[in-house]
Formats: sequence, C-alpha cells, structure tokens
Amino acid sequence: MSEIVFYNTRTREKAKFEPIEPGRVGIYTCGPTVYGPSHIGNLRSQLVPDLLKRFLRSEGFEVTHVVNITDVGHLVSDSDEGEDKMELAAQRTGQTAAEIAEKYTALWHEDRRMLNCQPLEENPKATDHIQEQIDLAKTLEERGYLYQLEDGVYFDISKFPRYTELAKLDLEGQGAVQRIEKVEGKRHAADFGIWKFAAEGVKRLQEWDSPWGRGFPGWHLECSAMSSKYLGERIDIHTGGIDLATVHHTNELAQSECAFGVEPWVNVWIHNEFLDFGGEKMSKSVGNVKELKDLVERGIDPLAFRYFVLQAHYRQQQTYNEEAMEAAARGYQRLVKAAIALRDVEAAGDPDVQAPYRKRFRDALADDLNAPQALAVTWEVARSDALAPADQRDLLLAFDEVLGLDLANAVVAEEVGELDPRIDALVAERETARKNKDFATSDRIRDALAAEGITILDSPEGPRWSRG
Ligand code: AMP
Ligand code: ZN
Repeated sequence: MSEIVFYNTRTREKAKFEPIEPGRVGIYTCGPTVYGPSHIGNLRSQLVPDLLKRFLRSEGFEVTHVVNITDVGHLVSDSDEGEDKMELAAQRTGQTAAEIAEKYTALWHEDRRMLNCQPLEENPKATDHIQEQIDLAKTLEERGYLYQLEDGVYFDISKFPRYTELAKLDLEGQGAVQRIEKVEGKRHAADFGIWKFAAEGVKRLQEWDSPWGRGFPGWHLECSAMSSKYLGERIDIHTGGIDLATVHHTNELAQSECAFGVEPWVNVWIHNEFLDFGGEKMSKSVGNVKELKDLVERGIDPLAFRYFVLQAHYRQQQTYNEEAMEAAARGYQRLVKAAIALRDVEAAGDPDVQAPYRKRFRDALADDLNAPQALAVTWEVARSDALAPADQRDLLLAFDEVLGLDLANAVVAEEVGELDPRIDALVAERETARKNKDFATSDRIRDALAAEGITILDSPEGPRWSRG
C-alpha cells in the first residue's frame, strides 16, 4: 500500500499524512454565509471535503468533520469594510437576520442531502458561540496581540512574524507595510477586526455586549473559536476554497497560533480550486447565481453534478458550462446503467481477483485525492470483459462508498422508461388527461402505476418515470 499524501498549501509540498492522534482525523471546513442560496461553485467546496472524509473512512480512520454556519460578521468585502452581509439581506427583505439564516441554512442542508454528502459530526453556528469568541479575543488581548480603535478591536499582524506564510503574501510588495501612526487608523492595512462596534446611532439586529463594548465578532474569529471547541487546539486538516487562503485562513491561523501557542495550528491545509463559469464571477451579490435546484429543474440529477465535480482534480480549476454538465450527466447515467445491470447478480465475488483493482482505486485517492484517476479505475471495472459480473458488482459498490454516487439505488428514469412501451403509453395517457383537466382519469392512472411501484416525475421536458 502506498502511503497517503496530501498537498499542503502552507508548505507548498505533498507530504505523508499522519493524524495527530493515531486512527482519528479531525477536519474543519469553512461553511456557508447564510444570507442567500449556495451556488454550485460553493458546493464544489463542500463536495471536496466530503470525498476526503469518505476516503479517510475507507482507510479505517474515525473522522470528525466540523463545518460552521456563518450567520454574523461576514462583511461585504471579506475583510473589514462594508456592511455585514446578514444585516444587508435583512434590510433588503424585511426579514430578521435569524429568519434569513434559518431559511438558507435549511436550503444548504437540502443541497448537501441531494449531493449525498455524509452527515456532519458538528455544524456550529457563529451566533451560538459568541462567548467562545469573546474568550478567545480576551486571550489574544492578554497576550498583547490586540489594539483598540474607535470602530473596533484589531489584531496587530506585526506581532506575528509568520503572518504571511500560508498564502505567501507579499505585504511589502503591495506597499502596504508603512505604519499608519494615527490613532484612529489601523497600524497596518492587513490588521483585521476581532470585535467590531456597532456604528454610532445604528441599531444592528445582531449585537452583543463584550469587555470592549457592544458589537459583533469579526468573521475570522468564529472559525478559530469553534474549531478549537469541537476539534481541539490543533487540527489535522482544514479545507476551503482557494480564495479563503489570503485573508480568512491567514487570519484564522494568526489568531489560533497566537491564542493557543501552537505551530502549526493546522497540519494540512487543503484548498480546492474554483468552479469557473467562463470568466463570469458567480456571486450572490451580483445575482447571476446558478444553484443546484436550477440543474434539477432542467432534469439533471444532483448526483450527476457530484460526478461532474469528481471528473477534475480538486487543485484544478474546473470550467462549468451547459455542454460539460450535460456530458457529465450522460456519463453518470451510463455508469448507473452499468450498476443496474449488475444488481441481480447472485454469485459471490473473488477477493483475490478484486484486490488489484481496489489497490489502484485507493492508491489514486491516496495520492492527493486524485478523483479523476479513481473514476478511471471505476470505468475500467464497469466496462471490463475480463471481470466476472459478481466482481464488477462488488468493486463498483465498494468504490461508491467513497465516490458517493449512490450506485446501489440510483435509477435512470428516461432510459428505463424507453424499455417499456406499455408504461410509456400509460404515462402519455395520464399527461393528456391532465392537460384536459380530467383529473379523475389522470389520478387513476397514477395510482395504478404506483401500485406497480412506478413513480412519475414531472420535469420541464415532460413527464418521466422510474421504478422504485
Ligand atoms: P461563501 O458562502 O461565499 O462564504 O463561500 C463558501 C465557500 O465557497 C468558500 O469555501 C469559498 O471559497 C467557496 N467558493 C466560492 N465561490 C466558489 C467557486 N466558484 N468555486 C468553488 N468554491 C467557491
Ligand atoms: Zn473559516
């Protein structure tokens, strides 16, 4: 067995993976800011750690995966400018920040469920952990890392020489190193807010008392406070989209290494590249968001999107467009068809025959999570003339524990339908009845089909049906 190696953003190298505690792995992933729906790029940043978790579990590790919910403090600029995204959404919609957070947290869970992501061990909300954030800030203050300005309490990055390490920041190159000596200004442009005061005369929906004054925590603080609560003061793996490395993760790291007195705080930083929309920035604030439900409305199985994501290595930018998505949907359907054809095989497989395939599959993932390579081995098995059907079945189901494509249960609606003209005719008859508002007939046909275990799905392309 080859050893497990992951690329670590901080060292810019691949290295052997060894958990802090033998047999157990803690993973922390930055979760959604719940002021709007997730777009499918955000969801790539959820699918990558889910694959990582499934793979580590298949290797026998006990995994604790923590993903936070950001429901306060994330300002529009990602750093210290602009308004809080939650407050802004509340002003726009007339709902409270809590109502908005609840709505989009539920939607995010629904997206994760549709994508067959494994349940999380912990899913803490920032607003449920205000005290933990204040305690962390107090520790930083006692250790001399903070200073106070009129609008908030800031972290002084000059006190932490490793500040630029994670993202290889070139602060001097940006001409940002000159100190701003004025009391009301930040000492360094990159100093970041730990606790922000509510602006004069502004009543925020979300504000709390603190030793420094009434206000709210800076966005970065929540991840240091909640990760240490649920995973301890050192973490095996921290994941997130690559954009988070320069500001959010750099600041999380500074806070944590200074407050906990550890180095490194995180053993492996795993950052996935973006899903690219052909040069167009997909953003909730711009309003050109493509959500998972948009794909589902076009008749695309959410798991076909999971399959799409698996086709690229996580450190590659992946371009999303309609053709590429449709090609992936066809690929996924073919794989499901292959799995369906093996479902009734009763013979037992031969572990000795399967061993070399299992090894190649896991070695691909052990090499910095090479999902495209693992998918290639999966296809080799699905297409193989040399393997017995029982071995194909065993291998596909074992691989799918890690891929998460639900090959054991998935159906291919249209294609199964094409195989049965009688049912096609009944579905068409029901559709005609519905169009003529003859609901008695359409309901009767639907119930008769249901009795045979057939479900009709209405889609923009017309009705489709599936067994089970
Ligand atoms: P947000 O909800 O905007 O805070 O983002 C949540 C996660 O999505 C973060 O890990 C981001 O890095 C990630 N993310 C944002 N846009 C994309 C994208 N186009 N592709 C992949 N990940 C993204
Ligand atoms: Zn975070």
